[in-house]
Amino acid sequence: FDTIRIENVGRRFGGTTALQGFDLTVQRGEFIALLGPSGCGKSTALNCLAGLLPLTDGSIHVGDQRVDVLPPEKRDFGMVFQSYALFPHLTVEKNVAFGLQMRGVSRSETARRVAEALRLVRLEDQAKKLPGQLSGGQQQRVAIARAVVIEPRVVLMDEPLSNLDAKLRLEMRTEIRRLHQTLGLTTVYVTHDQEEALSLADRLVVLRAGRVQQIGTPQELHDNP
Ligand code: ADP
Ligand code: ADP
Repeated sequence: FDTIRIENVGRRFGGTTALQGFDLTVQRGEFIALLGPSGCGKSTALNCLAGLLPLTDGSIHVGDQRVDVLPPEKRDFGMVFQSYALFPHLTVEKNVAFGLQMRGVSRSETARRVAEALRLVRLEDQAKKLPGQLSGGQQQRVAIARAVVIEPRVVLMDEPLSNLDAKLRLEMRTEIRRLHQTLGLTTVYVTHDQEEALSLADRLVVLRAGRVQQIGTPQELHDNP
């Protein structure tokens, strides 16, 4: 695919309009940040992309394919959540392998790709541990490895660093940007942290009360605040 086209996407919850008239074209390889205060519609936008929430308006295309009508598992998107959402009873390597096994990838290919993903997030020596034996930053790296190991068309991240302390947040920021670059990912990243968005993203989408207030590169937003 060349682009992801989000056209006039809207979502209501009863009388509440969580998102309205959301238009955005994401280029392949781009890093997009969705930025804005709590309640502005960031999670709603991401969940609509992921297929976790049906749209009440609009459409989403990846290349020529309309994806908003597809269930999440058919969209070929990787998700990273704020809460990590790891399986606590599975080892690190089994957590990362899960999506590949679901997709029927062979055992030898799974082993190869899991080892590669763990190497990328620098957890190769933690493979046999359980999530509960790892630090928050390490758990978040497992969650990232699990999302990228399926080689998704798009990686969606919802406040992935907000449960980490300040020092780890900075380290992981660098890590996420490095992975985006190394793997040639297309990333949509939700945060309420303006500095994080400016330092990570190629373009920022600023949401306010469910509407797009501004879209631009960090430089453009700096010049026209
Ligand atoms: P953000 O991620 O920017 O904090 P959300 O997308 O979670 O914002 O929420 C946007 C608005 O939609 C808020 O007013 C929120 O209360 C409302 N909202 C979100 N999810 C639901 C839901 N499941 N039911 C009712 N209202 C919701
Ligand atoms: P964040 O601000 O970190 O995105 P929220 O607290 O806004 O988190 O939302 C967390 C979850 O709760 C989301 O899945 C959202 O859809 C849901 N949610 C948000 N607001 C409401 C609401 N008013 N009623 C029901 N569910 C909501």
